[in-house]
Parts: sequence; C-alpha cells; structure tokens
Amino acid sequence: MKKAIFLLLCGMSFGIAAAVHAQGLHATMFVKVVDAEPQDSLGAFFYPYKLKVQQDFDIRPLSCDTLSLKLENFSFFQTLRAEGESDFALIPDMNVCSRNGQAPYHDTYYTFDGANLSIPVPADAATHIRIEYGYYSDLCFRTHIVPMGCGLLQYDFGWNSWYFKGDDGHVEFDKVAFDIPDTVCFFINGESIAEADGTVSLDLAQHRYDDISFHIADKKWYDPHPVRIGDIRCDLLLSKRDTSEVENEIPVPLAQLPDSLIADRKERIGRIIRSLHGLFPESKAEEFTILEDDLRTEDEKYAYGRAVHMSDREHAVFIDRSYWLDPSLTHELVHCFLNYNYDRIDARYFFDESLIEYFANYVYYPDPNERDEAFAAKLEYFENLPGDKDISIFDISRNYVDTRSGDGTHGIVYHKVPARIHEFAQKIGTERFHEAVRKFNLRLEQGDAPDFEDFGRILRDSGVSEEDWLQFVRSI
Ligand SMILES: [Zn+2]
Repeated sequence: MKKAIFLLLCGMSFGIAAAVHAQGLHATMFVKVVDAEPQDSLGAFFYPYKLKVQQDFDIRPLSCDTLSLKLENFSFFQTLRAEGESDFALIPDMNVCSRNGQAPYHDTYYTFDGANLSIPVPADAATHIRIEYGYYSDLCFRTHIVPMGCGLLQYDFGWNSWYFKGDDGHVEFDKVAFDIPDTVCFFINGESIAEADGTVSLDLAQHRYDDISFHIADKKWYDPHPVRIGDIRCDLLLSKRDTSEVENEIPVPLAQLPDSLIADRKERIGRIIRSLHGLFPESKAEEFTILEDDLRTEDEKYAYGRAVHMSDREHAVFIDRSYWLDPSLTHELVHCFLNYNYDRIDARYFFDESLIEYFANYVYYPDPNERDEAFAAKLEYFENLPGDKDISIFDISRNYVDTRSGDGTHGIVYHKVPARIHEFAQKIGTERFHEAVRKFNLRLEQGDAPDFEDFGRILRDSGVSEEDWLQFVRSI
C-alpha cells in the first residue's frame, strides 16, 4: 500500500494535468507462448510456459503528458511484488519503446507498481507506444499442480489481468493474434481465425465479452478420449498424472486411469449431455472439450471449474476431478447450453448462476426423491451459514466466497436461490417453469435485452398468478 502511494507521487512529479483519457484508446496485441526461461524468478520450476506479450498503443494527441494504463486485478504474486518481494516478478522483462524500438521511448522513464503503469507522452502530438513483457499465469491452483509443472495455465481477466487496459478499464483492440506451440491445447473465449502464417487471431467482430481470456493445457499431461452423443462431439481430456506424491515436489510418473473409470466418465458425460439437450433443444452447442485435472486448493476446501465459450457451437470445460462426483460438472455444462453474456442484464446472478445451479441439480438427480433431498440439503446448508439471512439475490453486487472464513454471497447464489427456484417450479409445474426459461433464453438469443420483469411476464402469460410470482420474488 505504501509503495503504491509512493509511485503515485512519482507520477505527480511530472506535473500531470490529466492522464490520457483511455476512452477510445486503440491497441493491437500479439501473444507468443514460449517455453519458460529458467533465469526468470518464477521460471521453469513453476511454469513450463510463459507468454511474451506485445501491446501497441496508438495515442491520439491530447493535452496531457502521461499515459496511465493498468492491470485490473492484483494477483497473489503481483501483490507480493508490490509489497517489495521482487522474487515474485509475475511480469518479468518489461520494456516500453516506440514501434521500431527507438527513442523517444526506448528505455524511457516509466513507473510500474505491478498494477499501474505510467508512461510520459508528448502533449498535443500523436504517439505510438509499444509495451513488451513476459507473463506467467498466477493460477492453476498452485498447490497440486505447480510442483509438477502446471498442466493448465489460465490467462483470465476475471482472475488476474494479463494485459494492459486504459485507466478507465477499457481498450479497443484492432487486432489480437496468438502464436501457440503444437505442444499445447489452446482455448479462448471467442471465435478464432487461422492465419496463413500459422498464428491464430481472435475474430473481434464476433467477440461478445469485455475481456479476452484463454487457457492453455500441456498436451503431454492428458489422455484424449472422444465421446459421441448423437450429433454432439465431446473430447474428454483426462489427466494422466498421479498426484498422490505431490508433497515430494518432484514430477511423478504418468499414470493411466483404469478402464472402468474411463468408461464411467464417458457414460456420465453421455447421460448429462443427453438430458441437457432434451431440456434445451434449441441450443447450438455441439462440440465440447472437457478437461479434468486436480484443480483444488491446498486445504481441499475449494475446487475450480470453468466453462469457456469458444463459439455458440464450441465450448471447453475445465474441472477438478471431484466434479464428477457431484452436480459441479453438470453446472459447467449448463453454462454451455445457456451460453449468453449475462453481464449486461439485471438480476445477473439469478440468471447466470442460481438458475444454472438449479438446472445442474435438476439434471444430476433424475430421481425426484433424491432431487428433493438435494435441494432441501442446499437450504439447510444456507441456513447454517454465518451472516444475514435476509439478503435478496437482487441486492448483491458480487458473487464470492472468502476461502478462509467461508463468508460471502455464495450461499445465496448457489444454495438458497436454486432451492427456492425448485420449490417455485414444483408449485407452478416444472414443465411450465422450464418452458418460460426457454422462452426467455430465446429472446436473449435473438439479441433482445429482456430483464427480470420480462421473465415474470412470460411466467404470468403462461398462467402463473401474480401472487405466486411475487411470493417467489420475495423468497429469493
Ligand atoms: Zn457457474
């Protein structure tokens, strides 16, 4: 904290009238995935791969003399670095220069505190600035994976930033291209275009998210198992690592999963996808990659899962091994079948998490009695959590859990509301409720921007009474 304040004062010594307004900030970005270099402070011991990122900014003339850029989320390692632990350089070898590497920007004076980058620019003149840096991903849940060389690397803006944006959180990309080695699988949250020179670029016209995020997975750690479910193709990438000897921090021999376990996983995938296809027949999802690994925190309390929407058709899902044993894998797959960007609609957590958790449990427990028990257990779990029980899903602005205390809004999002949805669906008729969700999603897909009130209207039009609807709204 002290350090950040110090650097801010440094910037002020330039006599900033105003930082360059990042609004309308244009950039291109080129990303090369390379082998990690052992001489870097994190280096090859932790990560087998490193990003080399080059961002080019065209700065229009503006009457100010500092360009302020930022990485939005401080990661664990970045925080250590900002606190003076230089060994944890998540972004080694940064260089700020002009397009041709020449003056005035080569070796120019700039300040960077791990999050905020300030670069002096000439006032009233158009400028070009190139920023080059190496980058290591902060995540793949450090404990189980890092000692063995990190199979899955995440470059995700939601978790920690990996590229620079303007100080208002925006940057307009004109081109984003990647150079990926054959040794890794590459999953990005958007349609990619294969270029003649062997690189892939992101189809920015189709890109629906504010941020660009991607994962890479080292192929040598995974056994591919293709599964076909009707017209749907699914590639199962099962981890070959035996993690029982993680404590020794040495690479462990590759282990083959027993055939019976592989057959069981294939059978489960088939069952889940068939059910989801039945629930959402209009969905365009038809190609999946499901990658499993040990993505758990050290204390085994939290496991990681993620759905990456590569297009309406193609999705990748990353799961911890424990996700096979509860509705968590199903949850990630529901995200793929209901693939909408909910960021910009109201009642966001209702639609993008609680409703998805409801469907995950609905599908995972086909037996009505088991299903009722599962939702009842959710309510009980919620009731036993610490904290205020009267907070509505509409009042929360963040979906989180504090991994130490267990506090957070996760109880409302993943336990209370899905259970209330189940009660409501049973009361008005499950099929009627599911039909309303399908109608709502159709409107989203058609580019409409329906809100929660529209959802209520669809239900009332289908015969649900005003009183039942209002009672439901109050209950969540
Ligand atoms: Zn989710």
